[in-house]
Amino acid sequence: MASAITTTAKGTAGLERTPITVAYGDGIGPEIMAATFRVLEAAGASLAIEEIEIGEGVYRSGVSAGIELASWDSLRRTKVFLKAPITTPQGSGFKSLNVTVRKALGLYANVRPCVAYAPYLDTKHPAMDVVIVRENEEDLYAGIEHRQTDEVVQCLKLISRPGCEKIIRYAFEYARANGRKKVTCFTKDNIMKMTDGLFHAVFDEIAADYPDLVNEHWIVDIGAAKLADTPEAFDVIVMPNLYGDMLSDVAAQIAGSVGLAGSANVGEECAMFEAIHGSAPPLAGQDLANPSGLLLAAVMMLVHIGQPDVATRVHNAWLRTIEDGVHTFDVFEEGVSTKQVGTSAFADAVIARIGESPERLTPVSYAGTGALVLPKPAFRPRATKAMIGVDVFLDWKAGTPDDLAAVLGGVDGNGLTLSMITNRGIKVWPDGFGETFCTDHWRCRFAGEGGQSVSHSQIVGLLSGVQAAGLDFIKMESLCTFDGVPGFSLGQGQ
Ligand code: NAD
Repeated sequence: MASAITTTAKGTAGLERTPITVAYGDGIGPEIMAATFRVLEAAGASLAIEEIEIGEGVYRSGVSAGIELASWDSLRRTKVFLKAPITTPQGSGFKSLNVTVRKALGLYANVRPCVAYAPYLDTKHPAMDVVIVRENEEDLYAGIEHRQTDEVVQCLKLISRPGCEKIIRYAFEYARANGRKKVTCFTKDNIMKMTDGLFHAVFDEIAADYPDLVNEHWIVDIGAAKLADTPEAFDVIVMPNLYGDMLSDVAAQIAGSVGLAGSANVGEECAMFEAIHGSAPPLAGQDLANPSGLLLAAVMMLVHIGQPDVATRVHNAWLRTIEDGVHTFDVFEEGVSTKQVGTSAFADAVIARIGESPERLTPVSYAGTGALVLPKPAFRPRATKAMIGVDVFLDWKAGTPDDLAAVLGGVDGNGLTLSMITNRGIKVWPDGFGETFCTDHWRCRFAGEGGQSVSHSQIVGLLSGVQAAGLDFIKMESLCTFDGVPGFSLGQGQ
């Protein structure tokens, strides 16, 4: 589907056209994209559009990620992707297109403004205006999972220092660039002291560079409860991937605007912009769907590509349309709304208000803003690493923890001595409780004598001994110190 905004070298506002890649998607995608482009063009956006096909048709043609190889060329050339929702076919064998694009293009920051538009759109939290900044690449989403024993599966939670630094710095820079006052961090570092602990520690380090912004940290469970109860207490919230995935939907829903929210996925080189809703197949082809989510995503795109004045015009005209009560069916409310319109008429209403600003809702101004350019991270010397032991994980179902300790006691440890056995993280030897439920998945910790460092060949020797004792080792994790600080969790006692 070709767009009208491709014909001349310069747009109506006289700006050089910015190349972008566009996908019209599935279901309601083509209608809301067409409506969005009509508004952008009327507001003077200067875009040179490269269209690619993604989604259901591509999946069904046998491409498991829903995107053709040739489409990557366009994305890597333009580095800007405006994407309509797609329909993901049911069944295994179809990979998430969003996850593929985010990871392949390094889109580490997911930015989702969640705003209430009271009294024009129904909401429980009229003063809510929160931006969720979610880390997009790491955490449990690495997709590294294994069934290790008959009874136990595991998923690796990977958090890196550079990953934390990028997303947290992005959150502070975003807050500063957008006139925000506070950045909050949610983690569960009271339990995951190393992974979430790193995220929290980096947050505290980077916060010190932004004395003009208030910073705070909440444990994610109470933070989430507070967000759902009093979202007006928050401004920008930065989170690891999993919490951000869940809480960005909660935040959009309680703002009352899940159908209206747009989001940006931003990386060092590329960015993708989309509505947060799906392809709504039952609404497709009926000129009913609300195009606002995609339109507000396009506003974020315009800021990113350096057309902030166009972004301001579009956003203010949209706010004025909402304020005037011209609403699509999903947000229409008798007594509040003045006119129910379809997709195309809603776009007409926004176009008719270009140049106007809202009178009661707060107008926006993106003047002087653009894509965030993050400062280069300071050089950090690598820590001095020393290996002082090993955790050997076993698949074993032949008795009690004391029985296992007795078997391991007969193994030649090559200078390494058994110091602890845990089961699902609970210490069961020495001095375990008979009441502790045990699976077939055991962590057996071996330490070098007197805290001395140990060699890889010692560990290989230990594993050979474990094998010779007829035990099934399923993995090992070396225990290291970094500049003398232990880089592993200590066993939980009862
Ligand atoms: P959905 O967001 O498509 O629909 C949920 C509800 O919201 C439905 O009642 C729908 O009618 C309504 N709705 C959604 N967008 C609307 C709009 N613009 N205007 C008015 N009402 C709207 O979610 P779903 O039904 O769970 O998923 C449908 C398909 O979309 C699935 O194939 C799913 O995989 C896909 N999906 C895609 C994306 C994406 O491309 N980013 C995101 C979510 C879901």
